[in-house]
Amino acid sequence: MKASRHRPTQISIDLEALSYNLQQVTKPLPIRTQVYAVVKANAYGHGVIPIAKQLADQVAGFCVSNLDEALELRQAGIEHPILVLGVVPIDGISLAKQASISLTVASLEWLEQAVAAALDLADVAFHIKVDTGMGRIGVRDSQTVNQLVDLLDQQEAKFEGIFTHFATADQADQTYFDQQLALFKDILVDLPEMPRLIHASNSATSVWHADTVFNMVRLGNVLYGLNPSGRELELPYPLKPVLSLTSELVHIKQLPKGANIGYGATYTSPSEEYIGTLPIGYADGLVRAMQGFSVLVDGQACPIVGRVSMDQITIRLPKAYPLGTPVTLIGQDQGMERTVQDWADYLGTINYEVVCLLSDRIPRYHE
Ligand SMILES: *Cc1c(COP(=O)(O)O)cnc(C)c1O
Repeated sequence: MKASRHRPTQISIDLEALSYNLQQVTKPLPIRTQVYAVVKANAYGHGVIPIAKQLADQVAGFCVSNLDEALELRQAGIEHPILVLGVVPIDGISLAKQASISLTVASLEWLEQAVAAALDLADVAFHIKVDTGMGRIGVRDSQTVNQLVDLLDQQEAKFEGIFTHFATADQADQTYFDQQLALFKDILVDLPEMPRLIHASNSATSVWHADTVFNMVRLGNVLYGLNPSGRELELPYPLKPVLSLTSELVHIKQLPKGANIGYGATYTSPSEEYIGTLPIGYADGLVRAMQGFSVLVDGQACPIVGRVSMDQITIRLPKAYPLGTPVTLIGQDQGMERTVQDWADYLGTINYEVVCLLSDRIPRYHE
Protein backbone atom coordinates (compact mmCIF):
# COMPACT_ATOMS: atom_id res chain seq x y z
CA MET A 1 0.00 0.00 0.00
CA LYS A 2 1.20 3.50 -0.77
CA ALA A 3 1.35 5.83 2.20
CA SER A 4 -1.26 8.60 2.00
CA ARG A 5 0.96 11.65 1.97
CA HIS A 6 -1.74 14.11 0.99
CA ARG A 7 -3.56 13.64 4.23
CA PRO A 8 -2.49 15.32 7.45
CA THR A 9 -2.30 12.08 9.44
CA GLN A 10 1.33 11.16 10.02
CA ILE A 11 3.81 9.30 12.15
CA SER A 12 7.02 11.01 13.20
CA ILE A 13 9.97 8.88 14.21
CA ASP A 14 12.62 10.39 16.45
CA LEU A 15 15.84 8.71 15.31
CA GLU A 16 17.91 10.30 18.03
CA ALA A 17 15.62 8.82 20.65
CA LEU A 18 16.11 5.43 19.01
CA SER A 19 19.90 5.70 19.27
CA TYR A 20 19.61 6.99 22.81
CA ASN A 21 17.49 4.00 23.81
CA LEU A 22 19.98 1.58 22.34
CA GLN A 23 22.78 3.22 24.34
CA GLN A 24 20.75 3.12 27.54
CA VAL A 25 19.98 -0.57 27.22
CA THR A 26 23.44 -1.71 26.14
CA LYS A 27 25.49 0.36 28.62
CA PRO A 28 25.02 -2.10 31.53
CA LEU A 29 25.65 -5.20 29.36
CA PRO A 30 29.00 -7.02 29.27
CA ILE A 31 31.42 -5.10 27.08
CA ARG A 32 31.77 -7.63 24.26
CA THR A 33 28.05 -8.30 23.87
CA GLN A 34 27.04 -8.51 20.21
CA VAL A 35 23.98 -6.33 19.85
CA TYR A 36 21.45 -7.31 17.19
CA ALA A 37 18.52 -4.98 16.60
CA VAL A 38 15.23 -6.74 15.97
CA VAL A 39 13.57 -4.92 13.07
CA LYS A 40 10.91 -7.44 12.06
CA ALA A 41 7.43 -6.28 11.06
CA ASN A 42 8.71 -3.03 9.52
CA ALA A 43 10.69 -2.32 12.70
CA TYR A 44 7.59 -2.74 14.85
CA GLY A 45 5.78 -0.32 12.56
CA HIS A 46 8.50 2.34 12.75
CA GLY A 47 9.71 2.01 9.14
CA VAL A 48 12.47 -0.55 8.76
CA ILE A 49 14.96 1.02 6.36
CA PRO A 50 15.51 4.37 8.12
CA ILE A 51 15.57 2.54 11.46
CA ALA A 52 18.19 0.05 10.24
CA LYS A 53 20.29 2.83 8.72
CA GLN A 54 20.17 4.86 11.90
CA LEU A 55 21.28 1.88 14.00
CA ALA A 56 23.87 0.58 11.53
CA ASP A 57 26.87 2.06 13.35
CA GLN A 58 25.62 0.97 16.77
CA VAL A 59 24.80 -2.70 16.22
CA ALA A 60 26.56 -5.89 15.13
CA GLY A 61 23.58 -7.17 13.16
CA PHE A 62 19.85 -7.34 12.63
CA CYS A 63 17.15 -9.91 13.33
CA VAL A 64 14.01 -10.26 11.25
CA SER A 65 11.21 -12.80 11.23
CA ASN A 66 11.23 -13.99 7.62
CA LEU A 67 13.32 -14.12 4.49
CA ASP A 68 11.56 -11.27 2.71
CA GLU A 69 12.30 -8.91 5.56
CA ALA A 70 15.96 -9.94 5.37
CA LEU A 71 16.10 -9.41 1.60
CA GLU A 72 14.49 -5.99 1.99
CA LEU A 73 17.41 -4.96 4.20
CA ARG A 74 19.95 -6.33 1.73
CA GLN A 75 18.25 -4.51 -1.15
CA ALA A 76 18.51 -1.29 0.84
CA GLY A 77 22.27 -1.79 1.07
CA ILE A 78 22.53 -3.09 4.63
CA GLU A 79 25.61 -5.33 4.74
CA HIS A 80 25.46 -6.36 8.39
CA PRO A 81 24.86 -9.93 9.47
CA ILE A 82 21.12 -10.64 9.38
CA LEU A 83 19.46 -13.51 11.22
CA VAL A 84 16.00 -14.77 10.28
CA LEU A 85 14.35 -15.85 13.53
CA GLY A 86 11.49 -17.83 11.98
CA VAL A 87 11.40 -20.99 9.90
CA VAL A 88 12.27 -20.31 6.26
CA PRO A 89 10.76 -22.61 3.61
CA ILE A 90 13.33 -25.06 2.23
CA ASP A 91 13.14 -23.49 -1.21
CA GLY A 92 14.22 -20.15 0.28
CA ILE A 93 17.56 -21.47 1.49
CA SER A 94 19.39 -20.78 -1.78
CA LEU A 95 18.20 -17.18 -1.76
CA ALA A 96 19.44 -16.81 1.79
CA LYS A 97 22.78 -18.26 0.78
CA GLN A 98 23.15 -15.83 -2.12
CA ALA A 99 22.36 -12.89 0.13
CA SER A 100 24.52 -14.09 3.07
CA ILE A 101 21.59 -14.30 5.41
CA SER A 102 21.82 -16.47 8.53
CA LEU A 103 18.99 -18.91 9.07
CA THR A 104 17.38 -20.52 12.06
CA VAL A 105 17.25 -24.29 12.13
CA ALA A 106 14.44 -25.30 14.43
CA SER A 107 13.92 -28.99 13.73
CA LEU A 108 15.81 -32.03 12.48
CA GLU A 109 13.10 -32.73 9.94
CA TRP A 110 13.61 -29.34 8.31
CA LEU A 111 17.36 -29.81 7.93
CA GLU A 112 16.89 -33.35 6.68
CA GLN A 113 14.48 -32.07 4.04
CA ALA A 114 17.04 -29.50 2.93
CA VAL A 115 19.67 -32.23 2.66
CA ALA A 116 17.27 -34.55 0.83
CA ALA A 117 16.54 -31.75 -1.64
CA ALA A 118 20.27 -31.75 -2.41
CA LEU A 119 20.59 -28.07 -1.56
CA ASP A 120 24.11 -26.72 -1.32
CA LEU A 121 24.38 -25.76 2.34
CA ALA A 122 28.12 -25.16 2.26
CA ASP A 123 28.96 -21.93 4.12
CA VAL A 124 25.32 -21.14 4.87
CA ALA A 125 25.23 -19.84 8.46
CA PHE A 126 22.75 -21.44 10.84
CA HIS A 127 21.62 -20.73 14.38
CA ILE A 128 20.10 -23.69 16.18
CA LYS A 129 16.90 -22.75 17.99
CA VAL A 130 16.34 -24.49 21.30
CA ASP A 131 12.83 -24.63 22.70
CA THR A 132 13.37 -24.47 26.44
CA GLY A 133 9.76 -23.71 27.23
CA MET A 134 8.36 -21.13 24.83
CA GLY A 135 6.77 -23.95 22.87
CA ARG A 136 6.75 -22.38 19.43
CA ILE A 137 9.73 -23.55 17.40
CA GLY A 138 13.00 -25.23 18.29
CA VAL A 139 14.42 -28.55 19.36
CA ARG A 140 13.90 -29.64 22.90
CA ASP A 141 16.78 -31.95 23.85
CA SER A 142 20.56 -32.23 23.67
CA GLN A 143 20.49 -35.31 21.52
CA THR A 144 18.62 -33.56 18.71
CA VAL A 145 20.74 -30.42 19.04
CA ASN A 146 23.87 -32.50 18.63
CA GLN A 147 22.43 -34.37 15.65
CA LEU A 148 21.85 -30.97 14.05
CA VAL A 149 25.42 -29.91 14.75
CA ASP A 150 26.71 -33.12 13.13
CA LEU A 151 24.51 -32.72 10.11
CA LEU A 152 25.57 -29.09 9.66
CA ASP A 153 29.22 -30.17 9.86
CA GLN A 154 28.67 -32.91 7.28
CA GLN A 155 27.12 -30.38 4.94
CA GLU A 156 29.99 -27.93 5.53
CA ALA A 157 27.44 -25.43 6.71
CA LYS A 158 28.42 -22.89 9.35
CA PHE A 159 27.20 -23.58 12.89
CA GLU A 160 27.16 -19.88 13.71
CA GLY A 161 24.90 -19.71 16.72
CA ILE A 162 22.56 -21.31 19.19
CA PHE A 163 19.70 -19.58 20.94
CA THR A 164 16.55 -19.79 22.96
CA HIS A 165 13.70 -17.46 23.84
CA PHE A 166 12.12 -16.83 27.24
CA ALA A 167 8.38 -16.80 27.81
CA THR A 168 8.28 -14.85 31.08
CA ALA A 169 11.32 -12.53 31.18
CA ASP A 170 8.95 -9.57 31.53
CA GLN A 171 7.28 -10.88 34.67
CA ALA A 172 8.18 -10.44 38.33
CA ASP A 173 8.03 -14.18 39.10
CA GLN A 174 11.33 -15.76 38.00
CA THR A 175 10.51 -19.44 38.49
CA TYR A 176 9.75 -20.34 34.90
CA PHE A 177 12.54 -18.13 33.58
CA ASP A 178 15.04 -19.98 35.78
CA GLN A 179 13.80 -23.36 34.53
CA GLN A 180 14.25 -22.31 30.92
CA LEU A 181 17.70 -20.91 31.65
CA ALA A 182 18.81 -24.12 33.36
CA LEU A 183 17.63 -26.20 30.39
CA PHE A 184 19.51 -23.98 27.95
CA LYS A 185 22.70 -24.21 30.00
CA ASP A 186 22.42 -28.01 30.10
CA ILE A 187 22.19 -28.08 26.34
CA LEU A 188 25.22 -25.81 25.99
CA VAL A 189 27.28 -28.06 28.26
CA ASP A 190 26.48 -31.06 26.05
CA LEU A 191 27.47 -29.36 22.78
CA PRO A 192 30.37 -30.99 20.93
CA GLU A 193 31.60 -27.54 19.85
CA MET A 194 30.72 -23.94 20.74
CA PRO A 195 29.36 -21.69 18.00
CA ARG A 196 30.46 -18.06 17.79
CA LEU A 197 27.13 -16.66 19.00
CA ILE A 198 25.08 -17.79 21.99
CA HIS A 199 21.98 -15.79 22.74
CA ALA A 200 18.89 -15.89 24.91
CA SER A 201 18.09 -12.23 25.53
CA ASN A 202 15.23 -10.30 24.04
CA SER A 203 14.49 -6.84 25.44
CA ALA A 204 13.01 -8.00 28.73
CA THR A 205 15.86 -10.41 29.38
CA SER A 206 18.46 -7.76 28.55
CA VAL A 207 16.81 -5.24 30.86
CA TRP A 208 15.83 -7.36 33.86
CA HIS A 209 18.20 -10.33 33.59
CA ALA A 210 21.39 -8.64 32.39
CA ASP A 211 23.38 -11.27 34.29
CA THR A 212 22.12 -13.99 31.92
CA VAL A 213 23.37 -12.43 28.70
CA PHE A 214 25.54 -14.99 26.88
CA ASN A 215 27.38 -13.10 24.14
CA MET A 216 24.63 -11.68 21.97
CA VAL A 217 21.31 -9.91 22.60
CA ARG A 218 18.28 -9.47 20.37
CA LEU A 219 16.76 -6.08 21.15
CA GLY A 220 13.39 -5.08 19.78
CA ASN A 221 10.74 -3.38 21.90
CA VAL A 222 13.07 -1.32 24.13
CA LEU A 223 14.77 0.32 21.15
CA TYR A 224 11.43 1.85 20.30
CA GLY A 225 11.21 3.32 23.79
CA LEU A 226 8.60 0.87 25.02
CA ASN A 227 8.52 -1.13 28.23
CA PRO A 228 8.27 -4.84 27.34
CA SER A 229 6.41 -5.57 30.57
CA GLY A 230 3.80 -2.90 29.98
CA ARG A 231 3.45 -1.47 33.47
CA GLU A 232 4.35 -4.59 35.47
CA LEU A 233 8.07 -3.90 35.91
CA GLU A 234 9.81 -0.56 36.03
CA LEU A 235 12.66 0.15 33.63
CA PRO A 236 15.96 0.62 35.49
CA TYR A 237 16.74 3.67 33.32
CA PRO A 238 14.67 6.11 31.31
CA LEU A 239 13.92 5.52 27.64
CA LYS A 240 12.55 8.04 25.16
CA PRO A 241 9.41 7.47 23.10
CA VAL A 242 10.33 7.15 19.42
CA LEU A 243 6.97 7.25 17.66
CA SER A 244 4.38 9.97 17.63
CA LEU A 245 1.13 10.07 15.72
CA THR A 246 -0.58 13.31 14.80
CA SER A 247 -3.38 14.52 12.60
CA GLU A 248 -5.45 17.63 12.03
CA LEU A 249 -9.05 18.66 12.26
CA VAL A 250 -10.41 18.47 8.72
CA HIS A 251 -13.96 19.36 9.71
CA ILE A 252 -15.54 21.17 12.64
CA LYS A 253 -19.19 21.75 13.36
CA GLN A 254 -21.49 22.87 16.11
CA LEU A 255 -24.25 20.39 16.84
CA PRO A 256 -27.54 21.12 18.54
CA LYS A 257 -28.62 18.96 21.45
CA GLY A 258 -29.91 15.54 20.29
CA ALA A 259 -27.91 15.13 17.05
CA ASN A 260 -26.50 11.71 16.15
CA ILE A 261 -22.98 10.80 15.09
CA GLY A 262 -21.50 7.87 13.20
CA TYR A 263 -22.56 4.41 12.03
CA GLY A 264 -25.43 3.01 14.02
CA ALA A 265 -26.24 6.54 15.27
CA THR A 266 -24.93 5.33 18.61
CA TYR A 267 -23.92 8.72 19.95
CA THR A 268 -26.39 11.50 20.57
CA SER A 269 -25.16 14.91 21.67
CA PRO A 270 -26.39 15.52 25.22
CA SER A 271 -26.29 19.27 24.66
CA GLU A 272 -25.07 21.78 22.13
CA GLU A 273 -21.45 20.89 21.37
CA TYR A 274 -18.55 21.11 18.93
CA ILE A 275 -17.47 18.03 17.02
CA GLY A 276 -14.23 17.70 15.05
CA THR A 277 -13.45 15.08 12.44
CA LEU A 278 -10.02 13.49 11.93
CA PRO A 279 -8.84 11.60 8.85
CA ILE A 280 -7.80 8.36 10.58
CA GLY A 281 -9.73 5.18 11.27
CA TYR A 282 -9.53 1.46 11.74
CA ALA A 283 -7.84 1.00 8.37
CA ASP A 284 -4.94 2.94 9.87
CA GLY A 285 -4.80 0.74 12.97
CA LEU A 286 -6.93 2.97 15.15
CA VAL A 287 -9.25 0.08 15.86
CA ARG A 288 -12.96 0.37 16.66
CA ALA A 289 -12.37 -0.47 20.30
CA MET A 290 -10.60 2.91 20.62
CA GLN A 291 -14.00 4.60 20.81
CA GLY A 292 -14.08 6.60 24.05
CA PHE A 293 -10.30 7.08 24.21
CA SER A 294 -9.28 10.74 24.25
CA VAL A 295 -6.80 12.52 22.01
CA LEU A 296 -5.17 15.92 22.56
CA VAL A 297 -6.21 19.20 21.01
CA ASP A 298 -4.62 22.39 22.28
CA GLY A 299 -3.40 20.53 25.38
CA GLN A 300 -6.87 19.24 26.23
CA ALA A 301 -8.27 15.71 26.27
CA CYS A 302 -10.99 15.28 23.64
CA PRO A 303 -12.90 11.97 23.60
CA ILE A 304 -13.57 9.95 20.47
CA VAL A 305 -17.38 9.94 20.23
CA GLY A 306 -19.50 7.71 18.02
CA ARG A 307 -18.12 4.72 16.22
CA VAL A 308 -14.65 4.62 14.71
CA SER A 309 -15.04 4.40 10.92
CA MET A 310 -12.59 2.93 8.44
CA ASP A 311 -11.10 6.32 7.57
CA GLN A 312 -12.45 8.85 10.05
CA ILE A 313 -13.13 9.47 13.70
CA THR A 314 -15.12 12.19 15.43
CA ILE A 315 -14.07 13.89 18.65
CA ARG A 316 -15.82 16.24 21.06
CA LEU A 317 -14.14 19.63 21.26
CA PRO A 318 -14.39 22.07 24.16
CA LYS A 319 -14.94 24.95 21.71
CA ALA A 320 -14.69 25.81 18.03
CA TYR A 321 -11.24 25.37 16.55
CA PRO A 322 -10.14 26.35 13.05
CA LEU A 323 -9.64 23.82 10.24
CA GLY A 324 -6.14 22.43 10.33
CA THR A 325 -5.82 22.53 14.12
CA PRO A 326 -3.24 19.90 15.12
CA VAL A 327 -4.32 16.82 17.05
CA THR A 328 -2.00 14.52 18.98
CA LEU A 329 -2.98 10.86 19.14
CA ILE A 330 0.38 9.58 20.39
CA GLY A 331 2.86 12.10 21.74
CA GLN A 332 2.97 15.27 23.82
CA ASP A 333 0.95 18.44 23.63
CA GLN A 334 1.45 21.26 26.14
CA GLY A 335 2.46 19.02 29.03
CA MET A 336 -0.22 16.42 28.30
CA GLU A 337 0.75 13.07 26.82
CA ARG A 338 -0.81 10.08 25.10
CA THR A 339 1.53 7.10 24.91
CA VAL A 340 1.52 3.82 23.02
CA GLN A 341 1.11 2.22 26.45
CA ASP A 342 -2.04 4.31 27.06
CA TRP A 343 -3.50 2.86 23.85
CA ALA A 344 -2.50 -0.64 24.90
CA ASP A 345 -4.05 -0.21 28.35
CA TYR A 346 -7.26 1.12 26.84
CA LEU A 347 -7.46 -1.81 24.42
CA GLY A 348 -6.42 -4.42 26.95
CA THR A 349 -3.43 -5.42 24.85
CA ILE A 350 0.34 -4.92 24.74
CA ASN A 351 2.27 -1.97 23.37
CA TYR A 352 3.87 -4.24 20.72
CA GLU A 353 0.51 -4.84 19.11
CA VAL A 354 -0.44 -1.17 19.02
CA VAL A 355 2.62 -0.08 17.02
CA CYS A 356 2.53 -3.11 14.72
CA LEU A 357 -1.08 -2.37 13.81
CA LEU A 358 -0.40 1.19 12.63
CA SER A 359 -0.87 0.59 8.93
CA ASP A 360 1.30 1.46 5.95
CA ARG A 361 -1.31 3.99 4.92
CA ILE A 362 0.13 6.40 7.48
CA PRO A 363 3.35 7.98 6.18
CA ARG A 364 6.37 7.74 8.49
CA TYR A 365 8.66 10.76 8.64
CA HIS A 366 12.05 10.09 10.18
CA GLU A 367 13.87 13.01 11.73
C1 LIG B 1 10.64 -10.62 18.40
C2 LIG B 1 11.73 -11.41 19.00
C3 LIG B 1 12.71 -10.79 19.78
C4 LIG B 1 12.63 -9.33 20.20
O1 LIG B 1 11.74 -9.23 21.28
P1 LIG B 1 11.56 -7.87 22.08
O2 LIG B 1 10.75 -8.24 23.24
O3 LIG B 1 10.86 -6.93 21.17
O4 LIG B 1 12.94 -7.39 22.41
C5 LIG B 1 13.78 -11.54 20.21
N1 LIG B 1 13.85 -12.86 19.91
C6 LIG B 1 12.90 -13.50 19.20
C7 LIG B 1 13.05 -14.96 18.93
C8 LIG B 1 11.81 -12.80 18.73
O5 LIG B 1 10.86 -13.43 18.03
